[in-house]
Amino acid sequence: MLIVLLGPPGAGKGTQAKYIAESLGLVHVASGDLLREHQAKGTDLGNEAKTYMETGALVPDDLVIRMVLDRISEEDALKGAVLDGFPRTEVQAKTLDGHLGESGIDFVLLIEVPNGHLVERIANRRLCETCQRPFAPWETQNCGHEGLYQRDDDKAEAVINRLKVYESQTSPLIEYYQLQGKLKNIDGTNEINVVTNDLLNAIK
Ligand code: ADP
Repeated sequence: MLIVLLGPPGAGKGTQAKYIAESLGLVHVASGDLLREHQAKGTDLGNEAKTYMETGALVPDDLVIRMVLDRISEEDALKGAVLDGFPRTEVQAKTLDGHLGESGIDFVLLIEVPNGHLVERIANRRLCETCQRPFAPWETQNCGHEGLYQRDDDKAEAVINRLKVYESQTSPLIEYYQLQGKLKNIDGTNEINVVTNDLLNAIK
């Protein structure tokens, strides 16, 4: 089973992807987390990606595609994966379709949140230093670890650029997957657990 979560930065893809993956026994594959792991390890890919990520630009397709396709070919992903942050361009979507062949993606879940909410949500976003789970500063960190940090690209200027990049490069995927009959729209402004239920109901 392969599920793609689509939606603007701050829509809650990371939060929801973790719940859905846990509940369905799938792996959570977040392209942003994978890129940040590469950066932390100082790999060539991580160093190359850094300059793009800092300004909120997209990392070149070929780098991201190779990284994600490698990850979903690993043994723990054989049962399936929840993709979060990938695909983000039409080239990525078409390459993924080509790679999957007939089996294809099962569902594309679009988490919709109006732009006005997003900037504030992202400004308040903190991540667990260990598992990258997002929390607002006033939430209890209930992932079993300690320590939160703010992503560099969650600071104001990069956020505005990321929203623009989403509009211009990623939002065309909505129509792309609609035409394939795979898209389900979910209201992302509801409480976290309501959104999780809506997502799980959408794939029944
Ligand atoms: P968010 O969903 O909050 O924007 P992510 O953690 O998914 O954050 O992504 C952070 C950054 O990593 C992006 O702004 C971009 O630079 C890079 N990135 C992540 N996924 C992709 C992708 N599929 N294609 C290109 N760049 C990506």
